[in-house]
Amino acid sequence: MNDIINVISLTLNSLDKKNKLANPTNFEEEFYRQLQKTDLILEETEEIKELIKILTKNEKSQLNSEIPTFRELSQILSNRISNQEIKEFLKDFSYFISPSIDNEIKTEIDKVCVDIADNPTKLLDQRVLRDIRTLTDKRIHNDKNLFKDKASDVKELIKFLGEYINKFITNHTATYDEITKLKEEINALSLSESSLDDLEEIKSELITTIGKFECSLKKSLDEQMECNSLYEKIEALQENLEKAEEEKSIDFLTNVLTRRAYSVEVERLENEYKVYNSNYALVFFDIDHFKEVNDNYGHDCGDYVLSTFAKILKNLTRTGDIIARYGGEEFISIVNYKNKIEIKNYLRRVKNIISNNKFVYNDIKLSVKFSAGVVHRKNYFSYKEALTKADELLYNAKASGRNKIIIDDGNVV
Ligand code: GH3
Ligand code: MG
Ligand code: MG
Repeated sequence: MNDIINVISLTLNSLDKKNKLANPTNFEEEFYRQLQKTDLILEETEEIKELIKILTKNEKSQLNSEIPTFRELSQILSNRISNQEIKEFLKDFSYFISPSIDNEIKTEIDKVCVDIADNPTKLLDQRVLRDIRTLTDKRIHNDKNLFKDKASDVKELIKFLGEYINKFITNHTATYDEITKLKEEINALSLSESSLDDLEEIKSELITTIGKFECSLKKSLDEQMECNSLYEKIEALQENLEKAEEEKSIDFLTNVLTRRAYSVEVERLENEYKVYNSNYALVFFDIDHFKEVNDNYGHDCGDYVLSTFAKILKNLTRTGDIIARYGGEEFISIVNYKNKIEIKNYLRRVKNIISNNKFVYNDIKLSVKFSAGVVHRKNYFSYKEALTKADELLYNAKASGRNKIIIDDGNVV
């Protein structure tokens, strides 16, 4: 008891020295200060020490002395968040730590929140804080995985689009310029910093894919150009072929010279005639009543007769001589000779072979007769004049009953 009176006395003296009024606030503060200097234990100071234990580190740092007054403590504690405020916070807190999609950790989050709601001081508990950190890690992990999944979906989609566009290009419905423009546009896409790592990969894949289309389109354009140039070449060849057909020298049916080729040969022969004074005879053949062959046995049979007739003439014509198809069933031959008798012999051979043999076509046997007009070139001023005469003699042969060869020397074979 004396000890307390002593502390009271020391307290009052100290206040007096400090020139402070001994009101309850100043007295209490100074009293605990003086008390610390003694070994005296009071029930109130023990209560204060118990209260200090429940303070947080931060709250403890706000204390001015080892034994604060109740007033000081109540001021610190009144700054604490109320339970009601903590409950309000928990509502949003659950939302903060939930993963974006597929909340697999919902039950764990709810459990922590209920725990804190039941006892809000637990919010500052080390164990509870550790649990919250673990849940937050799980939430980040879930979100990352989700993003990776979505990114790989996008990659798949691009791959699919690639194949689709490839087909589209193969069908030539996209132009090369359009594809090049598309590639440039993708290249120019600016991605946000946060997406850069993952989306840059997708972007470059897209550019590669478009690049492939570009190549394939370029290739197909080149092929197209190559095709066009081949087509032009074919067209030119076709033209040449048609021209060659026109100018070709061998008649396709009878295999003897065409009339065009014949005229070229005649020109050469005329030069020889003028330079070397060589002799030749001109024979104009015309098959008698040939039209009847066509009419009676058909056109194919007529063709057969023409080609056989020509074959016989060709066989009997020597190298250096000429045989040509002049018109439908008209042939002309130029026969070089030294003696006139050679011509007569030639004409006899032709007539004998044609007259003494039957033309056999399938089961049809045909007798073929012909008429001819024959001139000796040297009897005429020009080739043209000789030809006109041969034609005239042929006409005469026809007019005088056919199956006749009339020569310009008056002989008839
Ligand atoms: P002529 O005794 O007066 O010469 O009488 P022809 O019937 O022989 O003469 P014409 O001029 O009246 O008839 C000739 C026929 O030859 C008419 C034509 O259809 C036929 N002819 C022309 N070229 C060919 C051919 O390449 N093949 C066939 N099968 N017939 C042809
Ligand atoms: Mg005729
Ligand atoms: Mg005829």
